Amino acid sequence: MIIVFGSVNVDFVTRVTSIPKPGETVLGPRYEVIPGGKGANQALAARRAGSATSMAGAVGDDPFAAIGLGLLVEAGVDCSTVAKVAAPTGAAFITVDDQGENAITVATGANAFARAKVLEAIAVGPKDILLMQREVPEAEQIAAALWAKNAGARVLLNVAPAGIVSEALASLVDFLLVNDHEAMVVAQGFGLSASDPRVAAREIAASRAMACIVTLGAAGAEGWTGGVCRRVPAFPVDVVDTTAAGDAFCGAFAAALDQGFGFTGALSRGVAAGSLTCTKLGAQSSLPFQVEIEEKLKFLS
Ligand code: ADP
Repeated sequence: MIIVFGSVNVDFVTRVTSIPKPGETVLGPRYEVIPGGKGANQALAARRAGSATSMAGAVGDDPFAAIGLGLLVEAGVDCSTVAKVAAPTGAAFITVDDQGENAITVATGANAFARAKVLEAIAVGPKDILLMQREVPEAEQIAAALWAKNAGARVLLNVAPAGIVSEALASLVDFLLVNDHEAMVVAQGFGLSASDPRVAAREIAASRAMACIVTLGAAGAEGWTGGVCRRVPAFPVDVVDTTAAGDAFCGAFAAALDQGFGFTGALSRGVAAGSLTCTKLGAQSSLPFQVEIEEKLKFLS
């Protein structure tokens, strides 16, 4: 089983000719209200990739909660450990211009009140995986990681959005997942000097008792574990929208580990899921299913 402890958001997406400057108002023709948040995205990615998945976190006691959790519930993700708190459901206000550039404001809302205590209702064991990102309080992530480690479960941390990972949290992580930018930020935070993201991943893994995987966009992903490097190139696809590619990677990587695949098998499935996500517009709606991921792998081998 995969347990995701992370954010649940509602995304308000508006398309405009140009993104407003401070003090300016621009008119867009319409807007979409869609589920988002890195936690929820990765929980759905893991579920669609074929693993039993639980979502843990917090939403508001408001109508947006049902939208934020909608696709998770539909896909069979257990959301009984998502608390209802006295703060509005987290929201992202996303403006996309004609060139595809975006400006995003995130209101953390209920995610700031996500507590590791909700995890106590889950019977966790050594075969399970805790997957986290950086959109809920770090003190709670540390408590969650301790809860998982005490049960012998593995801990995966996706350092998104980019930021410094404390030593307290790092010491509990088995797999650190970063994109190119996040790799450099983490390496710097650990006091490591790295000239590029691949070197950063190697240095991070070598300096800590953890595996480190760096996703490299169109170049695929590279991971270091136990002093060994594995590289998987991206799958050639017609790219429509790269939104949620990183979330797809993390969810599918975790699901593959959960299903007993080794490091390279998990890396391949993460890369396939990331590449497939780029072929569709949207965030959660573009996350691929297990059958599509396996089909993609078959196609190349
Ligand atoms: P993030 O979205 O977090 O920045 P990346 O851009 O590194 O993450 O993308 C995650 C994964 O998605 C990559 O490892 C790769 O498998 C896939 N991917 C991303 N961009 C492309 C692309 N242009 N072509 C094919 N696959 C891609």
